[in-house]
Amino acid sequence: MAGNFYQVRCPDCENEQVVYGKAATEVACAVCGHVLVRPTGGKAAIEGEVLETVERGA
Ligand SMILES: [Zn+2]
Repeated sequence: MAGNFYQVRCPDCENEQVVYGKAATEVACAVCGHVLVRPTGGKAAIEGEVLETVERGA
């Protein structure tokens, strides 16, 4: 089963982007570089505001 994706708003620049909920590496904002997701060994820690959960089949 695929993990969930989350639409997250960057707290610094308000860019919205979709991130993987179990990211194994840090995911940075595409606009300003603020780290939005940090890997914690399992479920990733999301640093921005989660706007919605995005279910993706693949
Ligand atoms: Zn940003």
